[in-house]
Amino acid sequence: MALLTIDLNALVANYRTIAATVAPARAAGVVKADGYGLGAGIVADALYRAGCRDFFVALTGEATALRPTLPADARLFVLNGIAPGEEAALIAADAVPVLNCPADIERWAAAGRIAGRRLPAAVQVDSGMSRLGLAPDEVAAIAADPTMLGGIELVLVMSHLACGDEPGSGANAAQRARFDELAAMLPPAERSLANSGGSFLGGGFHGDLVRPGIALYGGAPQDGRPNPMRPVVALEARIVQWRDVPAGTGVGYGLTSVASHDRRIATLSYGYADGWPRMLSNRGAAYVAGVRAPIAGRVSMDSICIDVTDVAVDLLVATPNAELIGPHQSIDAVAADAGTIAYEILTSLRHRHARRIVALTQQEDATCGS
Ligand SMILES: *Cc1c(COP(=O)(O)O)cnc(C)c1O
Repeated sequence: MALLTIDLNALVANYRTIAATVAPARAAGVVKADGYGLGAGIVADALYRAGCRDFFVALTGEATALRPTLPADARLFVLNGIAPGEEAALIAADAVPVLNCPADIERWAAAGRIAGRRLPAAVQVDSGMSRLGLAPDEVAAIAADPTMLGGIELVLVMSHLACGDEPGSGANAAQRARFDELAAMLPPAERSLANSGGSFLGGGFHGDLVRPGIALYGGAPQDGRPNPMRPVVALEARIVQWRDVPAGTGVGYGLTSVASHDRRIATLSYGYADGWPRMLSNRGAAYVAGVRAPIAGRVSMDSICIDVTDVAVDLLVATPNAELIGPHQSIDAVAADAGTIAYEILTSLRHRHARRIVALTQQEDATCGS
């Protein structure tokens, strides 16, 4: 069986790197999509121990699942607003919805009237990404009639950067200026603009709270810059068998891999049903005993053939597993080979593997007595 290793010490080290970078602003933890596929519960628990008190998920259902695992002083934001009928579930999860549109505001204000108290919420404004958040005229309408937020306790005004991972993009400064302008029209509240990339754009982008996701999990926060984060994830797949194939022999479905020389082909017990992109057919590689073994032929549902011709036989015999993600191949490298981003590689991984959690050492666990 394949083995996914999650290093919580690296996760916490990444959190601390970001927290130190943005101080005195605080760092939240974005744990949507089940903690980017790694397990929202274990990720949030480790981040909490490192001092994180603000968590973001995308869906009400994610908040419902995560809340019982979190201490009461952890704030849990729901990014995608309020789907009709989810008000009670949000209140039960003690969640803070991000209100993205006037309908969200009306729903939450009405829920507050029914609950007989002001309910906490974040408001998102669209500072230029055209994805989620109030349009400038909608913000102006609230500025003109603040009673629209009656029944709501505004705890955070936020927006999201379209190009936070591109430090050279002029869009970042433009969004920051637009965000500052829109936030100033709303009642005073803490502000949040930066994702992982934005956390490294400098102090003007930090506001009160940054919202890193991918960088916590070891992904590079910014394009074209050295990755300051520690790798959190490693993935190994079992080598089921290997064989020598003469020149001219096809490998895998469609026989799409044929070479003019003799090859040695090993077969891994891992495939697209495990979450390895089929786009990596005849692209990318695994590593066997540290040696690059290119993927040969199409990625199958449950298996991948790799070319281990360059691996010494004695090493091959002694190596039960191949590295798919690890010291030789980062999540960003896999993503580049597959024409996608590390986010998609992580969130695509299924649960058809054993999971090994490297627990926090006492040193990294701030909640342990010293
Ligand atoms: C996903 C998300 C984040 C985290 O983004 P990363 O690029 O993973 O750091 C932050 N804010 C919002 C609104 C998001 O949707």
